[in-house]
Amino acid sequence: MPRLDESRASLLDALAGHYGPLSPPGGGPPGSGDAAPFEWIASVALGLVADPRIASAALAALREAGLLEPGALAAIDPLELDDIFRQARVRLTARVLQPLRKIARWASDQAFDAESVRLMSTETIRESLRGLNGVGPATADSLLLFALGRAAYPVDRPTYRVLVRHGWLDPSADYDEARSVAESIAPDDPGALAQLSLGLEKVGRDACKPAVARCERCPLRHLLPEGGPIEVG
Ligand code: SF4
Repeated sequence: MPRLDESRASLLDALAGHYGPLSPPGGGPPGSGDAAPFEWIASVALGLVADPRIASAALAALREAGLLEPGALAAIDPLELDDIFRQARVRLTARVLQPLRKIARWASDQAFDAESVRLMSTETIRESLRGLNGVGPATADSLLLFALGRAAYPVDRPTYRVLVRHGWLDPSADYDEARSVAESIAPDDPGALAQLSLGLEKVGRDACKPAVARCERCPLRHLLPEGGPIEVG
């Protein structure tokens, strides 16, 4: 069975060859343009939960209203915020808005700017974000990776299925064990981890489905263990 450390380059090459460069939520790369760190976070947070057109319109409405400053977004009356989105013809649910406002409050409390972010460890940011109601481990790692350019991996179900079916992860692994295995593929390379995450999400949608692995159509079939995919359980 090909070990993960022997398969890293082949795995990344196969995804890149099959899908080409993939665009992250929020459009990335992190820190592009003149945007402040909170704008990167808001952009990715919206991109994770809304389709790109709605996320882009919501971001534009926030920018127009001066709400891409975390203190302003945290403090605004929710009804006023609803009005701003209504006027911009953007429909966002409370499930989307509440975590974003909690992240805004957190960022405001941290005096979140490029310099303060640079000084914070990845683990500190991860733990802080996970402590916010409505921000789960995968969302926290998505924000770290796609918004802040840290070498973090947001483990989703497709990644878990691929790692288990190839024998690279024990099916009983918890979230952080799976994250650690995925991060080991490119431990110091956020760009490679981003392409890995986006590529495995596509593999999960196209071939490595929850109920059945359609290996015959998958770009990763050359990395299968002898005897085929392992049962996810
Ligand atoms: S579909 Fe098959 S080859 Fe593709 S990732 Fe899943 S188990 Fe691997």
